[in-house]
Amino acid sequence: MDNSTCPSGDVLVIGGGIHGLSTALHLARAGVRVTVLEAEYCGRHASGVNAGGVRTLGRKVEEIPLSLSSSKLWHGLADLVDDDGGFVSCGQLKLAENADELEECRKRVQQVQALGFDHELLIDREQVFEIIPSISRHVVGGIWVKDDGYALPFRTVTAFRRAAEKLGVKVMENTPALHIDQVGTHWQVKTASGTYQAEHLVVAAGAWAGQLAEQIAEPVPVRPEGLMLMVTHRVAPFCPTVLGATGRALSFKQFSNGTVVIGGKLVGSVEFAARHGEVEINRLSTSARTVTDLFPHLRHLGVNRAWAGIEAFVADDLPVIGGSGKASNLSYSFGFCSAGFQMGLGVGKRLAQEILGETSPISLAPFSIKRFANPMTNHPSVQAVDQY
Ligand SMILES: Cc1cc2nc3c(=O)[nH]c(=O)nc-3n(C[C@H](O)[C@H](O)[C@H](O)COP(=O)(O)OP(=O)(O)OC[C@H]3O[C@@H](n4cnc5c(N)ncnc54)[C@H](O)[C@@H]3O)c2cc1C
Repeated sequence: MDNSTCPSGDVLVIGGGIHGLSTALHLARAGVRVTVLEAEYCGRHASGVNAGGVRTLGRKVEEIPLSLSSSKLWHGLADLVDDDGGFVSCGQLKLAENADELEECRKRVQQVQALGFDHELLIDREQVFEIIPSISRHVVGGIWVKDDGYALPFRTVTAFRRAAEKLGVKVMENTPALHIDQVGTHWQVKTASGTYQAEHLVVAAGAWAGQLAEQIAEPVPVRPEGLMLMVTHRVAPFCPTVLGATGRALSFKQFSNGTVVIGGKLVGSVEFAARHGEVEINRLSTSARTVTDLFPHLRHLGVNRAWAGIEAFVADDLPVIGGSGKASNLSYSFGFCSAGFQMGLGVGKRLAQEILGETSPISLAPFSIKRFANPMTNHPSVQAVDQY
């Protein structure tokens, strides 16, 4: 290991996914000198290989303000990073396939509206058929969010990286953080190529963030899962919006090139130390069946490719965002439980505000790592994967 000290700036960010890069960008916009340490290459893991769903629909209520603030940033992404990330605002629709599911949707929309949010709308079967004429006639309605959509994950991450670098952010790829330590008021991060040091440290290392938090004795019940996706051959346009379902797992979208990306509760396997997700082909068939139930004409459509990305799941199904409960000048942003791509834009901005000491109407309290400080607190085991 090289013992030299590397020039690092005011803030060190560990992790070159959407969360690390978005935080770095927003700090750099405020004039802060930032270095990002990335173990492999930016977008190598969840942020670059996800399903691209840009979804405010169905968020846990705690996440709604951050998700809506992200939505605004998605709609102005080209102004922020000089590239729209391939974002298409085609809406997202969560289908109800029977009366019970429609009732569940009705209750959800009432709950969200009672909290003062009006982005989720209950729609009936005729409205569903208007949006997707080719869908199976057994569908009875659903929840519709017109401003949601999808984007291209790797392109989006790359746009954030480039925009951050333009503002002076140094991005060090192939530089895994091996050990973090606070020495006096500074943070030191040991890597194989030297020690980086800065006043403030941000841990945005995705599924590996929990290991770093453990190094300062701040454990979090977080675990990695390998989430799978498959992409089909091209087919004529038939689905102009992004689909999820109420009663079964589904994440479904057709890109403008005709390919269809299918996911939803598809858990593969993880070789954590090797930083590798592996596809379990037999589990992919459940989602394929859901898709052909909804669109029988796809029965003979071939699957072109399948892959698995590694995502961090926290036991209570909420991410960890904000300052450490153990150490000063340390912030976290990880554990997005299969839905952090959309949130990356708003979370990065909000975390940068917190680091800069700026106020915001959006509270990070529900996401504080301090909720795990009491070992007597019972946290539910890791939840089943929800819609992407
Ligand atoms: C298959 C799949 C589909 C998904 N679909 C959607 C979707 O449609 N919509 C949505 O909103 N979300 C989706 N998600 C979730 C979303 O991709 C993640 O929540 C989000 O990308 C997490 O971003 P991140 O920056 O926290 O983590 P990551 O993207 O994992 O980035 C963390 C980075 O930290 C690096 N790193 C780790 N350890 C170290 C270390 N010691 N030193 C330096 N660097 C380190 C890693 O190499 C990695 O690049 C999906 C996820 C998967 C896997």
